[in-house]
This record gives sequence, structure tokens and C-alpha cells, in this order.
Amino acid sequence: MYKTFKSLVPICRKAFAITSARAASGGFTVSLTDEQREMQDLARKFTKEEIIPKAAHFDKTGEYPIEIVKKAHAVGLMNGHIPQDCGGLGLGVFDSCLVTEEFAFGCTGILLAIEGTGLGQTPVIMAGNAEQKKKYLGRLVEEPIVAAYAVTEPGAGSDVNGVKTKAEKKGDEWVINGQKMWITNGGIANWYFVLARTNPDPKAPANKAFTGFIVEANSPGVTPGRKELNMGQRCSDTRGVTFEDVRVPKENIVMGEGAGFKIAMMTFDKTRPPVAAGAVGLAKRALHEATNYSLQRTTFGVPIAQHQAVSSILADMAIGVETGRLAWMRAAWEVDNGSQNRSYHASVAKCYAADMCNRVASDAVQVFGGAGFNSEYPVEKLMRDAKIYQIYEGTSQIQRLIISKSLVTEAM
Ligand SMILES: Cc1cc2nc3c(=O)[nH]c(=O)nc-3n(C[C@H](O)[C@H](O)[C@H](O)COP(=O)(O)OP(=O)(O)OC[C@H]3O[C@@H](n4cnc5c(N)ncnc54)[C@H](O)[C@@H]3O)c2cc1C
Repeated sequence: MYKTFKSLVPICRKAFAITSARAASGGFTVSLTDEQREMQDLARKFTKEEIIPKAAHFDKTGEYPIEIVKKAHAVGLMNGHIPQDCGGLGLGVFDSCLVTEEFAFGCTGILLAIEGTGLGQTPVIMAGNAEQKKKYLGRLVEEPIVAAYAVTEPGAGSDVNGVKTKAEKKGDEWVINGQKMWITNGGIANWYFVLARTNPDPKAPANKAFTGFIVEANSPGVTPGRKELNMGQRCSDTRGVTFEDVRVPKENIVMGEGAGFKIAMMTFDKTRPPVAAGAVGLAKRALHEATNYSLQRTTFGVPIAQHQAVSSILADMAIGVETGRLAWMRAAWEVDNGSQNRSYHASVAKCYAADMCNRVASDAVQVFGGAGFNSEYPVEKLMRDAKIYQIYEGTSQIQRLIISKSLVTEAM
């Protein structure tokens, strides 16, 4: 039995207050409060008992792990960031990341099934009005259902300005037509945050040309495509979604006409630190598996851990895990404290942790030798699961663009 996260609400609120107070008085800190440790312990226990034993099954079958999602919801380990007046815990990004890193140690596919909803929710949390928050976030707290963030299209991923889905005003409604691609929770979401072009002038600047809409998944004209068979994180539900003459009431515009691009980009300040925390959790698992294996496997009469070349690999893996964790902590702290530099730190953490976890997962395969290349052993899955961290929520190349632009702007 779990002490539910909901029963930790007063504790979490106190923990968040303490973290914020420290921020105001003493700057960035990485020491966890007792309450945060309690939260982390609960997520660790859940990972050990619910995620790790079933990870290989869901990787093989690609099934969406609905029972695990329901359990995470019941225990209160989902939706921690939803505001308290909508029934959530109102946790900060830092606290959510603590849970994310634990889940990722178990399986990043199941992690995405539990937490991918956060990407769809964040635009509404940041920019939705009170009615939208109560209606659309409230229902996610009440039931184990999820949201999705529908921005990418077949012809527009990194280049969001290339989004072709359009919305036209017809009386009190908007009519959406277009095709989205690679949408996490595409086939199971209860509602989508959809970015659509509302200014037909192709020369209109991005920060005026697009609008964000909340679209009910059961609206006539919404058609999810087939579930995509991905290299890794396979139990997450990734699909294309078609919107054909989908009518949306004007009340479902988020923030205002023309504000969509800004909201879609601001969202990443809050969601990239958790992506980085997920990558760190995966890398920690790779290190754990490689260390154990290096003590069991013997060559030339000694455990391979005693060969300096192997122990150096393990040391480098550990350096990656430790520094990756510092990076997400810094980025999460910057967001929670409303820093001007939050986009920069979110990109640094996401890029660093994504690249690091790919190197560390590949190193784990190396330590396992031939067994590392085989799907009966755990590290092959880790290497497949790691790759997507360099692609979704902005590729590693795009993160470097953001970081370098920020450097240049500051230097000018
Ligand atoms: C499993 C999965 C889940 C996803 N979930 C979602 C989701 O929930 N919602 C959503 O909206 N999207 C989602 N995506 C989409 C994801 O965010 C995009 O795939 C990603 O942003 C890259 O876009 P793209 O695939 O169009 O690649 P492209 O933009 O075509 O990029 C191709 C290559 O060119 C590089 N490149 C492009 N432009 C530049 C540049 N200016 N400078 C340097 N290099 C550049 C890229 O880094 C990449 O290496 C998901 C994708 C996957 C695979």
C-alpha cells in the first residue's frame, strides 16, 4: 500500500514554501527538504513495485500501460503541477522533476505515458483563463485521463512557424482544418492544445499569426491516425491527428487571438527541465546496470570492474549522471523562481542531459559486451529509449541555437 501523494498535500505545500523562501533569501540550492525526500521515496517505491517489473512487457508489446497510469493517478503521482484551485497540488517544476527522475529509472516509456499529459496541460496552466483551467484541468484531476500538445505537423517540427493547420472564424466559432504529426497521447487524449494559423497573411510575424485552441478529442472531425511503432519509449501513444472542419467555440481560445506561438514556446521553459530529469533517470539506470554487470562478469580471471578501462567508463557515466542532475535542478529552480534566464537554463539542461544519456546508455551497452546488444538484457532497451531525448521538445541542434542566441543577445 502507498501513502498517497494526496495525503502529502500539506507537506508538499510546505516543502514548496520552504524552497521558495530559500530562493528569496539564499539563491539556488540543491539540498532537498525532508518533505521533498518523502515525495521522492514514494515515487521510488512506485517505480520499484509498479514500473520496473512491467517495463519489458510494455516495451515488447507497445501497449499503453493504462493500469499503471490509473494507479499513478490514484496515488496522486500524476498532475502534481495542476494548480490547487483546480484540485491539483500546485507543485513547482523542481518537485515534479524529482518524481520524473525516479519514474525514468524504471522505464521512460511508462514515464511518458504517465507524464506526457503535462505538455498538453502547460499552455492552459500558464495562459488559460479561470473557466478553462477549472473545466479542462479539473477533469484531469478527477479522472485518469490525459491531454496532448498538438503543434508538430508533417512539414513543421523544428520550424514551428511553418505550421499549416488553419483556423477560420465563423460567427462565434472557429473551424480548424489540418494535420498534426508525432503527437504524444494522440489517440487517447481527452483534449488537445492545438496550434493553428489564424492570420492568412504569409508575411504575418509568428508572434501574431498563430492561435492556441483547446479542442475536445470527441469533437466531430477529429481523427487520430494509427499508433506509430517507434524505436524506443514504445508504450507511449504517438500518432498523427487530422482535424477536418472541427468547430471550436471562441471560449476555447487560450489567452487571445494571435498569442499561440508565444504560448507554445513559453511552455517549453516548464517542460524541458522534466525532460532533462527523465534523461538523467535513464542514465542513472544505465549506470546501475553496468556497475552490477561489471562486478559479475569475469574476464582474464577478474571481474571486468577491475580492468581500469572498464572502471573509467563507469566513472565517466557517473560524472554524466551527477552533472545532468545539477543541470535539471538549476533549470527547474530558475523556472520556479521566475528568472529571466529560464529559457536558457531549460535548453542547457535539456540538451546536456539528452546528449549525456545517449552516451551513457551506449557506454552501458559497451560494458555488457555482446550481451549489451541483445534484447534479453536491459541496456539495449535503454539505448533505444534514450535517442528520443535528442529529438522531442526541440532537437539538440535547436537547443544549441537557443543557447547561442541567448549568449549573443546578452553580449550585445
Ligand atoms: C516520439 C515522439 C513524440 C513527440 N511528441 C510530440 C508532441 O506531443 N507534440 C508535438 O507537437 N510534437 C511532438 N513530437 C515532435 C517533435 O517535437 C519533433 O519531431 C521535433 O521537434 C523535430 O521536428 P521534425 O521531426 O520535423 O524534424 P526537423 O525539424 O525536420 O529536423 C530534422 C533535422 O534537422 C535539424 N534542424 C532543423 N532545423 C535546424 C536548424 N535551424 N539548425 C540546425 N539544425 C536544424 C534537426 O535538429 C534535425 O536533426 C514528437 C516526436 C516524437 C518522435
